[in-house]
Amino acid sequence: MIASPSNGLGPLGPEDIDAGDCARCGTGLKMGKLRVPGHRVLADATCPQCSDEYFIDVPSSFALLSPVRYCHTQQRHLGAAILPFWQNWFDKMMEAQAEVEVEINLGKAVERPLLLHCLDPIFGHALKRLFHADAYMKRYPERPLIPLIAPWLQSFLPEGIAGAITVKWKGGSGLGWSRELDNRMAAFIQQYPGTEFCQTVPSLASEDIDISRFSGVQPMERSSGRNRARPTVCYVWRDTRCWGGSIEAQLENVQQLRRQLLSETPDMRFVVAGISSSDRWDDETEFLLFEKPGPEQDRQLNLLYSQSDVVIGGHGSNMILPSAHAGGTVELVPPKRWHNAWTASFFRSDCSPAEAVFYHRYLPDTTDIGTICDVVHVISGFAPRFDLLGGGDNTRFERVDAGRLTAEAASLPGFRP
Ligand SMILES: [Zn+2]
Repeated sequence: MIASPSNGLGPLGPEDIDAGDCARCGTGLKMGKLRVPGHRVLADATCPQCSDEYFIDVPSSFALLSPVRYCHTQQRHLGAAILPFWQNWFDKMMEAQAEVEVEINLGKAVERPLLLHCLDPIFGHALKRLFHADAYMKRYPERPLIPLIAPWLQSFLPEGIAGAITVKWKGGSGLGWSRELDNRMAAFIQQYPGTEFCQTVPSLASEDIDISRFSGVQPMERSSGRNRARPTVCYVWRDTRCWGGSIEAQLENVQQLRRQLLSETPDMRFVVAGISSSDRWDDETEFLLFEKPGPEQDRQLNLLYSQSDVVIGGHGSNMILPSAHAGGTVELVPPKRWHNAWTASFFRSDCSPAEAVFYHRYLPDTTDIGTICDVVHVISGFAPRFDLLGGGDNTRFERVDAGRLTAEAASLPGFRP
């Protein structure tokens, strides 16, 4: 199953999807309509010979890597899924009915709209799909772009979209099948002929993303953010996947981290930020915690990240916006997350490979607090000249001006012999 658009991503309609052959009789399947029952976009397909009916994963996002084809006449999958969670989620969608509220807001009359499907129970997955919006608006300026989002993505809608379809789950995991959404989207597709879906990838390269278009906040200027009089360090709190295994252990770890950082840099500002319904806090620590995300809450958090020299946090969606806005990040990685540790980092478009390695560090979540503090101090307190040390024209063989390198290095603090 391969999508037809050449040269990168593109809009997908039923004609762009190869449904493959019937598992029972081998006849080529006849493609039907696209449908949106929940966290994925499916195509209906039917065997013209034996009338078996299928759901075909539209090749976008994780379905590009691990498509699910499902025969609902025989109630079985065809082919093995490469990413087990993707097939598990498909099964959950088939098993559970979801109750949702659907709100369609269109700012103007639309023709041949492009739908950007960002419905996913995991914040990072959903946000990364929304990040495709600008590239689509740039490449297809004549086509109105309409994201499908959960309410918690409303704060991140960029300017220039033609509207949004907001889907609010009434309980449940966000993985179930919603008849309401399925019907409303079928009516939408019928009302607006030529509707297509934006094909996405799980992680778009951040060269194509200007984070401030989504968050409304400019990231920290790294050159001016270094060596400031009062460095800011932030710990991103979450109530799940806690550092140390429990909320109590995480709180103890964070307090110890704060005490040790402040003992070495007394004027450091240390803030615990994020979303939490916990109320077990102390009076000495500065907090920017909210029970739920929302436009004002997200803005305040992103503003704090943009003022933070280093943000520390456990691996997960919670690290995407900090890494996009802060000077640097230290991600604490649990043993089972090393394979995708990098996926929660946003590497800015102005970030060279050397800078990416310097400003984004990954440590085992069992690392002792002293070592974490050492790494935080290096990122917040040391301003490497990447143009001298490992990037830019100054370090390219044919362009090195050796005399200039020595002179510039000698002028750097900490580099004097
Ligand atoms: Zn057949």
